[in-house]
Amino acid sequence: MADRVTVIGAGLAGSEAAYQAAEAGVDVTLIEMKPSHMSPAHRSAGFAELVCSNSLRSNQLSNGVGLLKAELSAMGSLVMEAAYETAVPAGSALAVDRVRFSEFITHRLRTHPRITVVERRETALPDEGVTICATGPLTDGEMAASIAALQGGDGLHFYDAVAPIVEADSVDMSVAYFASRYGKGDPQDYLNCPMTREEYDAFYQALVSAETAQLHEFDDDGKITVFEGCMPVEVMARRGYDTLRFGPMKPVGLPRPDGTEAYAVVQLRRENREGTMYNLVGFQTHLTFPEQRRVFRMIPGLARADFLRYGVMHRNTYLRSPGFLTAAYEVAGREGLFFAGQMTGVGGYVESAASGLVAGRNAAAACRRAPRILFPADTMVGAMARYVSEGGCGKFQPMNANFGLLPPLAERFKGKKSERNEALSARALQSLAAFLHT
Ligand SMILES: Cc1cc2nc3c(=O)[nH]c(=O)nc-3n(C[C@H](O)[C@H](O)[C@H](O)COP(=O)(O)OP(=O)(O)OC[C@H]3O[C@@H](n4cnc5c(N)ncnc54)[C@H](O)[C@@H]3O)c2cc1C
Repeated sequence: MADRVTVIGAGLAGSEAAYQAAEAGVDVTLIEMKPSHMSPAHRSAGFAELVCSNSLRSNQLSNGVGLLKAELSAMGSLVMEAAYETAVPAGSALAVDRVRFSEFITHRLRTHPRITVVERRETALPDEGVTICATGPLTDGEMAASIAALQGGDGLHFYDAVAPIVEADSVDMSVAYFASRYGKGDPQDYLNCPMTREEYDAFYQALVSAETAQLHEFDDDGKITVFEGCMPVEVMARRGYDTLRFGPMKPVGLPRPDGTEAYAVVQLRRENREGTMYNLVGFQTHLTFPEQRRVFRMIPGLARADFLRYGVMHRNTYLRSPGFLTAAYEVAGREGLFFAGQMTGVGGYVESAASGLVAGRNAAAACRRAPRILFPADTMVGAMARYVSEGGCGKFQPMNANFGLLPPLAERFKGKKSERNEALSARALQSLAAFLHT
């Protein structure tokens, strides 16, 4: 089919993808626009630049991203090698010296015998050959238009307006109840958290006074906050005491099991088929993560909620991936064209690298006309690829690594949540080892 792979973008995903394809024995052209062109968030000339935090998050096997790191390390990930080589003390998290991290990766890629680096800003996807597009969440207009055209013009999202997701098992079912509004549809699709007037009062006061995250200047262009359909819940609350009660917290049509109507109701909508994750309907937010934990745990039934993903609202270019990409991150019906990184709908540095690993290995397979490598669904790397290619229940939104994506254990786990997660991790690592040895 082709004798080389072209990778566009040397961020977290593109760097990992280029390395994996080259290590699989294929020649690679890695095209990066820095330093002559910089996105609004990038500042340095090096590859795999960490644009914000220097943390690659938890290193524990009781954490979804900790498992993902272990899987990537087991598969010879360049990003993970660089991270451990340049780690700085950060407790149970893996944080790095961002300059040395980027230098390590840049050096390995620039000196790799099968990789040729080209400094150029690409404005369109090529029509043929084996290509991995990894231009990231801030992909600029021309390239975005080329990608959008591939999806029929309306396939790209430009903003994230994401509500928090909680783990179903962590919802207190002595308080919350299943019901869909006016009894329409499957009642299992919605969990409802009812509030008394006093509870609403306290929640309202906490919400309107909670601390919000700082916007990046390129996020602060008014589009996020002006668009009524995705207004942050705290902004809506500030419009008036009752605004939420007539909006996302409307109690009508959702009687409690005893038939009475609550003063307000927070609805949680099922996020995946397995029913292990639920999102807070209408709760897209700019609050800082600690404030989300504090304020949203005031919602009856969520006092002990485990947040699998926090709400965010920021600029983010990503594909409507389900049905468009396969679990190899290849465009269905356009053999040899792959996407990787945040633009596929994975969220976070490590997740972006993971998608790069899968795309890079599969692009090498495409060059050889070999079958694609589809990782088992009970591994985190496989579960993320499955989420991207199949989606969940509602509108497709970016997702970070979390245990809600994995199929549950065969038997209900009775111990602590952290022990259950470690059991899921042990199963995933065993499954991956067996897969890699076949
Ligand atoms: C402001 C901001 C803050 C973030 N903070 C965090 C955080 O703290 N933690 C976290 O886990 N995640 C964070 N993220 C998400 C983060 O972007 C991703 O986790 C990760 O960087 C995405 O990797 P990527 O490879 O998809 O894209 P990127 O790392 O952005 O890499 C894309 C690369 O492609 C290059 N490129 C773009 N267009 C072209 C073109 N047309 N031609 C050639 N080259 C091109 C870019 O220069 C860049 O090097 C943040 C994102 C943003 C935008």
